[in-house]
Amino acid sequence: MEFERNAAPYRPSLERIADFREIYTPHDEARLTAQSARCMDCGIPFCQSQTLPDNRISKAGCPIHNLIPEWNDLVYRDQWRDALDRLHATNNFPEFTGRVCPAPCEGSCVLGITDPPVTIKNIEMAIVDKGFENGWIQPNPPSRRTNKIVAIVGSGPAGLAAADQLNRQGHSVTVYERADRIGGLLMYGIPNMKLDKEHIIQRRLALMEEEGVVFKPDSDIGDGMNGTVDIRNLVEESDVLLLTTGATTPNDLNLPGRELDGIHFAMEYLTANTKSLLDSNLEDGNYIDVSGERVLVIGGGDTGTDCLGTAMRHGCAELVNFELFPSHPEERRPTNPWPEYPLIFRVDYGHEEATAKFGEDPRIFGISTTEFMDNGNGRVGGVKTLDITME
Ligand SMILES: Cc1cc2nc3c(=O)[nH]c(=O)nc-3n(C[C@H](O)[C@H](O)[C@H](O)COP(=O)(O)OP(=O)(O)OC[C@H]3O[C@@H](n4cnc5c(N)ncnc54)[C@H](O)[C@@H]3O)c2cc1C
Ligand code: SF4
Repeated sequence: MEFERNAAPYRPSLERIADFREIYTPHDEARLTAQSARCMDCGIPFCQSQTLPDNRISKAGCPIHNLIPEWNDLVYRDQWRDALDRLHATNNFPEFTGRVCPAPCEGSCVLGITDPPVTIKNIEMAIVDKGFENGWIQPNPPSRRTNKIVAIVGSGPAGLAAADQLNRQGHSVTVYERADRIGGLLMYGIPNMKLDKEHIIQRRLALMEEEGVVFKPDSDIGDGMNGTVDIRNLVEESDVLLLTTGATTPNDLNLPGRELDGIHFAMEYLTANTKSLLDSNLEDGNYIDVSGERVLVIGGGDTGTDCLGTAMRHGCAELVNFELFPSHPEERRPTNPWPEYPLIFRVDYGHEEATAKFGEDPRIFGISTTEFMDNGNGRVGGVKTLDITME
């Protein structure tokens, strides 16, 4: 009742688009203490459970059941190390989720019924960052090995979390990844400004290696043809084989003009950018450079926002973002009550940056693309669209 919500700010938009460093500002302990004091330690903490009162599982609350009121209280009492232990009790990689999770916990926070919710995600990130800074997070290999061999195909968050859990049980875990770097979409989907690759992801991977997990990048698991490693060998060699290969197939727009130059899938754009950034600080030129270009991003969500943020950092000349559906309202609809995830109008980092540079939000809502137009040289120069309204 004494403190208002005061979320940690990002670095100023116009400053941060000049680099690919993380968008976050340093943790402010006084702010975090005051913000953790807002937590009411609810008898039924909706933030940490994913179950609605009638036992329906919903998209409400923390999907991994983080012990949120416990660590909020420990932060308030300045017991950061204990807070870290409680955070790690349910979460293998809080330094990832504290940066990129969409925070359904905040959408379900009981405070949110009458006031803005507790800044749970900021507190989570601060706890784990402080844990690393203070050297509290050290390799903790299992004391005994079971001699069971586990092969995991795919090194995204699913594969990594499984590897971490199974290694802790004493099994001998090898993670196979077809890309040249481990991490799946953590590495090559989500851009560096949202989740730092060299400092944040590599730090955790190094820790897992010291704990005994073996990583094998450049290992495309398949039928043994076309340069792939034969999966039958893995089956033979392992007690358990886990497939955590994600969803690589993009959602194409098979429209007239789709074959024109200058049309790319988000993942081509984002992956090449991060790879070139990590390989050569973008000096090898092996990425889709949109500096000085007029850029249209079709599709919203995290992927669309990350494309906006990347195009801003390249120095695009104009930026427009099409969202198929009409804009969400500022407040919840009656059909989307607390504690469900709030479907409300949000301004993410990429929207903020485009607004700061170009003077207006780049999004156009309720619009569907029907055709890509040729600029006369075999390259896309425009699109035809339809306005969409919802009944
Ligand atoms: C641009 C973008 C931004 C996102 N931002 C967010 C966000 O901010 N917050 C959030 O919560 N979620 C976000 N997501 C979603 C999130 O990244 C995914 O839900 C998550 O990565 C899925 O994890 P996964 O381990 O199942 O798969 P993936 O991360 O896709 O990992 C699967 C891995 O398996 C490998 N693989 C596949 N086949 C083989 C094979 N035959 N042999 C060897 N390896 C193989 C792939 O190369 C890949 O590395 C984002 C997604 C994208 C694309
Ligand atoms: S729902 Fe909100 S106020 Fe209640 S315990 Fe969780 S974070 Fe604290």
